[in-house]
Amino acid sequence: MAFKPANNIQDLQYFGEFGGVNPSISDSSTYTFLSAKTMFDTFEGNADGCYLYSRHSTPSNLYLGEALAAMEGTETANVCASGMGAITPVLMQLCGAGDHVVSSRTIYGGTYAFLKNFTPRFNIETSFVDITKLEVVEAAITSKTKVLYCESVSNPLLEVADISGLAKLAKKYNLKLVVDNTFSPLSISPAELGADIVIHSLTKFINGSSDTVGGVICGTQEFINDLRNVNDGACMLLGSTMDSLRAASILKNLRTLHIRMQQHSKNGLYLAEKFQSLGLKTVYPGLKSHPSHDLFKSMMNPQYGFGGMLTIDVGSLERANALMELMQDRNLGYLAVSLGFYKTLFSAPGSSTSSEIPEDEQAEMGLSDGLIRFSIGLDADIERTYNMMKDCMLELNILS
Ligand SMILES: *Cc1c(COP(=O)(O)O)cnc(C)c1O
Repeated sequence: MAFKPANNIQDLQYFGEFGGVNPSISDSSTYTFLSAKTMFDTFEGNADGCYLYSRHSTPSNLYLGEALAAMEGTETANVCASGMGAITPVLMQLCGAGDHVVSSRTIYGGTYAFLKNFTPRFNIETSFVDITKLEVVEAAITSKTKVLYCESVSNPLLEVADISGLAKLAKKYNLKLVVDNTFSPLSISPAELGADIVIHSLTKFINGSSDTVGGVICGTQEFINDLRNVNDGACMLLGSTMDSLRAASILKNLRTLHIRMQQHSKNGLYLAEKFQSLGLKTVYPGLKSHPSHDLFKSMMNPQYGFGGMLTIDVGSLERANALMELMQDRNLGYLAVSLGFYKTLFSAPGSSTSSEIPEDEQAEMGLSDGLIRFSIGLDADIERTYNMMKDCMLELNILS
């Protein structure tokens, strides 16, 4: 039976304190106890349903976490103040001094910088590999490896991870498979395919209105309890807690995610096919020319499509910059990092979101200077958008 992530969100039911159709927002940092004993039990982690202090958990954060766990099909989830605020405690919880991570080399720039420059301070080393080659991944695993880390669809090169294949490797070597699913919410359900922990930056498609940062960790009750443990839990102790007011607003936006993803995907596929037919080097998982098109198809929940992210290569940074400035002048989108907005956003990853990656490594992984990353918006008339984008390219002699 196919997994139905949007149904799982729809089927949740909770009311506000006075019968409101939205849950009440918990506007408190701390909570009273009727007895001193219950407070003690809560510290020990033995008082279900009691709240202690908002860095630990809040009703509003639990509602949002529950909805995201339902979407990903995991037992539970913990929301965090940002995507990085979700990724870093997961890695710090799973790895200690002397441990090793095998990570995809094409990942979000901040995650790359954390594993490359920050965790070595704690004697945690990372091997960065081509995640699309399972034999290369397996060869990088050592007796010290604890974590396999990847993005289902990678930033910015849109490489697709074979999550079932990686999950088999994780089982074989007793590792945790951690998957950042930020680029493909609803389309891909990594936990269904065997991932142990699924992370999102809520900042992107899930919240979808570019008005906040946020993150989530979806996993087993046991792992989430470990993260929240007052004595040694990385979420509790590192403290990147989401605010309750923000959790409530993200929950409301989550409810339209399925409709938005369908439109992002429809527009993404339309533009990718048109760009490719103009002779532009276009990368989009929905194109047959994408090296992992069949793999994506085999993993996807088909009604949500191939997502809203695509890249084109216009040959040089100068041309990329000129095109992005002209498209912004014509109000076709914004020259901005991030993704998942109602307007199209575009940026040149080599000089922005992936600038943490040294130039020689960028070249090796195929991250070229002329690459433009698009997060395709919710445009009602994508044909008009395409025609106007094509005019920009003709004016700048980008089409030969
Ligand atoms: C943006 C992003 C992150 C980081 O999320 P923040 O909310 O900015 O901290 C992590 N992974 C991916 C794939 C992203 O796109």
